[in-house]
Amino acid sequence: MPLETGTKARSVGIDAGGTLIKIAYERTDGTVGFHKFAAAAMEEAAAWVAARIDAATRLALTGGRAARLRGLLGRDANHLVEFEATCNGVRWLLRRQGAERHSFLLTNVGTGTSIHCVDGASHYRVGGTGVGGGTLLGLAAMTTGVTAFDDVVRLASQGDRGDIDLLVTHIYEGATPPIPGELTASNFGRWLQTGGSDRKEDVLASVVGLVGETVATVSVHAAGQCGASSVVYIGSSFIRNDLLRKVVAGYTELRGSQAVMVPDGEYSGAVGALLSIVDKL
Ligand code: ADP
Ligand code: MG
Repeated sequence: MPLETGTKARSVGIDAGGTLIKIAYERTDGTVGFHKFAAAAMEEAAAWVAARIDAATRLALTGGRAARLRGLLGRDANHLVEFEATCNGVRWLLRRQGAERHSFLLTNVGTGTSIHCVDGASHYRVGGTGVGGGTLLGLAAMTTGVTAFDDVVRLASQGDRGDIDLLVTHIYEGATPPIPGELTASNFGRWLQTGGSDRKEDVLASVVGLVGETVATVSVHAAGQCGASSVVYIGSSFIRNDLLRKVVAGYTELRGSQAVMVPDGEYSGAVGALLSIVDKL
């Protein structure tokens, strides 16, 4: 149930990211709700929040655009370092799901991809890659003209990468490859050899493949560096995106790590912000 206008939230945590503004709020009965807006609609997001807070509502912000949003809201708020908030939030979401773990690699596939080693209460950023959800949208628009995230995801899931991506098995033709034949040897690497496919669905499936496999590959290497056996994936790039989840989880497991997808994982930063101002959630 969304929070109706006029109904006040007890506490609100907001993660204002590059593409989306994620909001986690505590209702007066103690339950938690989520809501999101496009970052481009920041005024709308500010109006939504303003209609649901009063002087008694506690407010905490994180994310690259937190300061701008606070300016629009025109009131005091707790400010959190984004990675701190995200790690705390994901721990809470994992616990809620009964999938709590002590140490793991955390990969946040947002506009870009950010990777953290989490070990108990401590965590540090191991790195990341510029290949993320922004790449998915940018490459999809450049190659097919499809711009809406939901359309990209829907069309990609009907596509076939067979004539576009070069697999290890294509190179070894009949011979036994030294690594699994179903691994991608070269994303988009078959395009010139086969004349490629112009079907939007196929191109978009390959774009999702490129992003998902890059994210999973970098994560598996980082997990090795941290000594973590599981990779926890969050970020809005996975929203209603079964294909990306499948590619990322499949590739992660093929490369020997356990993949964990977190329901509502895109709200990790917002939940972490919320946790900083509530006694208990
Ligand atoms: P950030 O914190 O950088 O804003 P997010 O974790 O919110 O990043 O992820 C942003 C990505 O989520 C986008 O690049 C896009 O791939 C995907 N996405 C999911 N839903 C939407 C949407 N409604 N509009 C735009 N992008 C979306
Ligand atoms: Mg983010």
